[in-house]
Amino acid sequence: MAAEEDTRDEQALEERPTELEELPIPASEDADVEVEREQDAPEPAELDPETRARRDAALRYVRKLGDPVLRASALPVERFDDALKREIERMGELMHDALGVGLAATQLGILHRVLVYRAFPEDELTALVNPVLEWESDEQEGALEGCLSLPGVHVEVQRAMRVRVHAQDASGEELEIEAEGLPARVIQHEIDHLNGVLILDRISREARKDAMRAMREAQETASAA
Ligand code: ZN
Repeated sequence: MAAEEDTRDEQALEERPTELEELPIPASEDADVEVEREQDAPEPAELDPETRARRDAALRYVRKLGDPVLRASALPVERFDDALKREIERMGELMHDALGVGLAATQLGILHRVLVYRAFPEDELTALVNPVLEWESDEQEGALEGCLSLPGVHVEVQRAMRVRVHAQDASGEELEIEAEGLPARVIQHEIDHLNGVLILDRISREARKDAMRAMREAQETASAA
């Protein structure tokens, strides 16, 4: 990932975590942001064999386009028990191994309104249970997004720059999250998953055709390897 982005991340981190709304606003034009892949994660081909093997193993648990569960609406979580905590822990591990920055439960075939994310490698993992997008800024920006459920697809998606989300944590405690820039983008991407919405639904027909071609090619490459 470009050095320019790294600098921006550092600036962002200095301001955090208390005053999310004061984060510097990233330049939108060339923001080459890959949601669900860590900012400075190398391309899979450049990964060391161990990391790559771990990533491939994790990705086998992630449902891909064509699986109807990705189109389902997840159900609210009502029981905040140990099983939920284990589920969230597992999601965090798989996301980490898959080199993702966010993961929704539906991507693992679990119809729970649960998502995890870590927008920057230095951040702690955040889990949101029953997240509700309470407010989004009118101001939008476009950036490239990838999705663990859509291998090979990278498309520019317009999203609100800032959001406020109400959710619960793994123990059922109420959370109010304000996010801007990449974390806001990741949260919106993952809440979309909980509603059965994919990035393909947020782009033009033309861009969708290109994306589908890219995904087919990625699958052919994978099955040839
Ligand atoms: Zn996704």
